[in-house]
Amino acid sequence: MPLELQWPPLSPIRTGWRGRCPRCGMGHLFQGFLTLRPQCEVCELDYSFADPADGPAFFIMMFGCLPSMLFAVWLQTAYQPALWIHLFTSLPLLLVTCLLPLRPVKGWLVNSQYFHKAQEGSIDRDWQGKKATKHPHVLRTDAPEMPGEER
Ligand SMILES: [Zn+2]
Repeated sequence: MPLELQWPPLSPIRTGWRGRCPRCGMGHLFQGFLTLRPQCEVCELDYSFADPADGPAFFIMMFGCLPSMLFAVWLQTAYQPALWIHLFTSLPLLLVTCLLPLRPVKGWLVNSQYFHKAQEGSIDRDWQGKKATKHPHVLRTDAPEMPGEER
């Protein structure tokens, strides 16, 4: 049975934000706060494909930390409060906007990676060869280099 029929595609937003497996939607994606499990405990999907790198941190910085820091700067410049005021306003706001969305955003990015079959870029030599035979005007990557020619 084809994989698409056995496991119909699930929305990466719905499964990722809940920290669920991108294939079955039932198993857990995380063990602990941000550590990914080695595989799904329900469908045994290997999570080794998952590499969101700095993606979650970038989104959280841009849409969570930066507005919170701007609020802290605005509060300080507009009212010049004592520093302990920031302990009860800016610091909790910063923690809430930076820590709470980290896990759902990481789940969303990992599940989007699975959904879109995203992976590190590579050169498909077979495809390049077929393209070169169909379209001889396209430069072949495996063609011998002419003297004085630069690639
Ligand atoms: Zn699963």
